[in-house]
Amino acid sequence: MRNRLVVANWKMNGSLQANEDWVKTFAALGGTDCDAVVCAPHVYLMQMVLLLEDTAVALGAQDASEFEAGAYTGEVSARMLSDIGCRYVILGHSERRSLFGDTDERVAKKTKAALAVGLKPIVCVGETLQERESSQTLRVVNRQLNAVLAEVGVEGLSHCTLAYEPVWAIGTGRSATPEIAQQVHAALRTELALHSPELAQTMRILYGGSVKPGNAASLFAMPDIDGGLIGGAALKAEDFHAICSAH
Ligand code: PEP
Repeated sequence: MRNRLVVANWKMNGSLQANEDWVKTFAALGGTDCDAVVCAPHVYLMQMVLLLEDTAVALGAQDASEFEAGAYTGEVSARMLSDIGCRYVILGHSERRSLFGDTDERVAKKTKAALAVGLKPIVCVGETLQERESSQTLRVVNRQLNAVLAEVGVEGLSHCTLAYEPVWAIGTGRSATPEIAQQVHAALRTELALHSPELAQTMRILYGGSVKPGNAASLFAMPDIDGGLIGGAALKAEDFHAICSAH
């Protein structure tokens, strides 16, 4: 049984006041039966540790360095995130891949660094529109997955969550249909089963890309979709709460 996991990716949004309001609003709406995580910008993580202290919501970061420590100006290490109380970290988000040069190899190294300090990586995979239209979807997502697997092995991957995020669906308002998403999730599970049938069954695979309160239930109803990674709709506590509660 894979408990549903719903992750808010706030991206480069928020302020001290807005974050506090969000947490208060979310808490006032009552509990949900999913595991909920908020991934805030690095600069607000310490504030969020305090705000989320007595709630059931876990804290995550949106990226971490592949390096342990040292002369890497501007970087934030996995150990620093774990030190202040972060439990999750998003790695390989398509915006990091396309805008900031995160290659498959770097994402794999970041995953290894995060695992080494006990963080739970949320590893993102997904194809561009061009790759989908040229029937490359499974080749691309399996390549991205296998790069991480080669670095951390089955044991390492068992502490990760996978997020399938088709690039053409992120921030575009054009979500994958539940059927399209399900096909890729099932294919990822088949790929995992080549390495470990057990891991293929236990691994939580989230869908991300224009999930909203109105389409969450139909996506989450799919047998291989175990929750969501939510961008735009996670900026409103009410919408994120509705997605967490979607049935
Ligand atoms: C994301 O950034 O991971 C994402 C899925 O964004 P959105 O929900 O806005 O498409």
